[in-house]
Amino acid sequence: MDQDFFDEGALVAVMTTQPLDRTLDYKAPEGGCFVGAFVEVPLGPRKVLGVVWGVGKGDFDLSKIRSVVRVLDVAPMREEMRLFLEKAAAYTLTSMPAMLRLATRAPGLGDPLSMRKVYRPGDTLPERMTDARKRVLAVFEEYGGLSFTLRELAEMAGTSSSVVKGMVKLGAVAEVATPRDTPFQRLDPEWGSKELTEDQTLAAEHLRQRAKTGDYGTTLLRGVTGSGKTEVYLEAVAECLRQGRQALVLLPEIALTAEFLSRVQARFGAKPAEWHSGVTMTERRRTWKMVGQGGAQMVIGARSALFLPYQDLGLIIVDEEHDTSYKQEDGVLYNARDMAVLRASICGSQVVLASATPSLESWANAEAGKYDKIELTSRYGAAVMPRMGTIDMRAEALPSSRWVSEELKKRVERRLELGEQSLLFINRRGYAPITMCRACGHQIGCDQCDSRMVEHRFQKRLICHQCGESKPIPTQCPSCEAEDRMAPIGPGVERLAEEAMALFPQARVAVLSSDRFGSARALKAEIEAIAAGGCDIIVGTQLVAKGHNFPLLTLVGVIDADLGLHGSDLRASERTFQLMRQVSGRAGRSETPGEAVMQTYQPEHPVIRAILAGDEEGFWKAEAAQREAAGMPPFGRLAGIVISGSDAHQVMELGMALARSDGAVRSVGGQVFGPAPAPIARVRGRHRVRLLVKAGKGVALQRAISEWVGQFQPKGDLRLAVDIDPQSFY
Ligand code: ADP
Ligand code: ZN
Repeated sequence: MDQDFFDEGALVAVMTTQPLDRTLDYKAPEGGCFVGAFVEVPLGPRKVLGVVWGVGKGDFDLSKIRSVVRVLDVAPMREEMRLFLEKAAAYTLTSMPAMLRLATRAPGLGDPLSMRKVYRPGDTLPERMTDARKRVLAVFEEYGGLSFTLRELAEMAGTSSSVVKGMVKLGAVAEVATPRDTPFQRLDPEWGSKELTEDQTLAAEHLRQRAKTGDYGTTLLRGVTGSGKTEVYLEAVAECLRQGRQALVLLPEIALTAEFLSRVQARFGAKPAEWHSGVTMTERRRTWKMVGQGGAQMVIGARSALFLPYQDLGLIIVDEEHDTSYKQEDGVLYNARDMAVLRASICGSQVVLASATPSLESWANAEAGKYDKIELTSRYGAAVMPRMGTIDMRAEALPSSRWVSEELKKRVERRLELGEQSLLFINRRGYAPITMCRACGHQIGCDQCDSRMVEHRFQKRLICHQCGESKPIPTQCPSCEAEDRMAPIGPGVERLAEEAMALFPQARVAVLSSDRFGSARALKAEIEAIAAGGCDIIVGTQLVAKGHNFPLLTLVGVIDADLGLHGSDLRASERTFQLMRQVSGRAGRSETPGEAVMQTYQPEHPVIRAILAGDEEGFWKAEAAQREAAGMPPFGRLAGIVISGSDAHQVMELGMALARSDGAVRSVGGQVFGPAPAPIARVRGRHRVRLLVKAGKGVALQRAISEWVGQFQPKGDLRLAVDIDPQSFY
């Protein structure tokens, strides 16, 4: 930026959060403003949020230009952040206002400093000392120097707030107003480090050295589940904190944050800031502000934590970097893992991509030398990787409506006798994926989408997993009107739990599925109870595959290892491989050795064999060779175009018009496939058509695509979305 302060009346360009793909000119307000300042500007009859982006363009009638209303009381957006938003917008072909909205997702940013009352020891002692008053003073004594809210103080003293208020009148307790948004407790990098193993020490040392450079760099930290990746990258965080810079840890699943918070607290003596959908609005605003002014040293959060206004971001950890939830699939379509690397390269920070089963993209980048690679090869302590095996389901001849084979049943029984836990894994939520009429064969679908509705017996409803629509489970067939002939077909996690209870009546069965828990707290409590031995059999979806520690778990039974193998998805093999390795990694994480068995109808399938052999390098090499030969990512580039609208004909028309005028894509050597109806051709009542763009690796794909789609202005309710590096093709 050529100028960083504007005097009152100077012409400034402001980027607003309103859907206009350009900056607007305003006059700097009284007192002037810095470039990057968060401001409120008039737009028509409204006042909207914006950021001073630079010198005004001056292409608008000067006499009509209005003034910035006010500068908000938050740190200006740094140049690094503006650059990051611009580059991220260009990469994902997203408009700047949409990017800016992502970066300002905290309510009340512009509100005047809000205050709250806190209580600390007063100057005098009360003349008459009651037990309750003594307890209040004892709280102060115990936590010397701290102040409390009225509720905290009363609760800790085991008394009523009127007792505290009474003491305020007597001068024994002081009531003071402080800003509501306070800095987070300081983290101490020397608080409680563990003694690392030789492997871990080498890995930690590598990351520490990298953190000291103050430059950009990405390291792929690979290690089997339980090898201590978390311990190692917390050492990188410690070094980053010593450097006085901020650290961000991205986790794929908010259910994991509770366990992780306790580990951070044990390591650094205090809790970090949190940023995810489970955080209250007030706490979000506090985090947003504190991150910007250096009052938060460490943030743990979901992908959008990447868009916080860090003062000096030194390190980004992407834990379970292969996880598909890092790709945001609606609104701004971005991959947090890739954007983390982008942001780090702009602000000179280190990235650590941690995984037991990296994505092929990251694996290839490490192979090519773009990323450093470090590896932890064995589990920590006495824990060893579980023994792997398959159960050939062709030989089992199970009766219908049963999914646990005799062989698996025997193994679970053995674990029950030993007092150990088993996990029965199935990657399907709900009771049954299909509800069918036995009289006419009709299957119940969603009215809004071309997808079947999934029975959720626990909620006593049919739910569409595409749009969330639900309806009661009918007793009468909506097609042939036969009574009481509707039947569930196929297993979901709830049905498997029912089978487990019937097969093992003496066992305590717990169900772990994301939709069974109303809150992250309830889920955390359940996970803790299970870890402490609160059940004998866990029946779970991929929620359990993600990093939880169940020390008593020694047997993992995968009900349907073939489930992911048939997808037409480019990444079907990769995903199955990762998921199976992750799930089986849950077994035997402490002293008792574990085993993992997969029920499969195709034990000879190359992916199943690679999982069994534990030959990861071999698997990736073969997978990489196939993709390279086909020019597929990461050796070529893809972009998905999804056109949607309420009128099927118009949607297809636009798709065909695009396909006919693909000159811009062809001029860079790219190809356009389609249009074709999307695999789920209707979602929420909107018809969907897809095109796929394929191009070489070095191609300036975004420029070609924006030129190409820029020729069309979708009319009416037609929408066109571009998905660069698509992960899902539904
Ligand atoms: P990963 O992240 O690779 O799955 P973790 O860091 O969670 O592995 O480590 C697995 C378990 O082993 C955790 O309970 C962790 O506290 C413990 N652990 C790992 N390394 C050490 C160590 N050097 N000292 C003590 N405990 C360790
Ligand atoms: Zn639906």
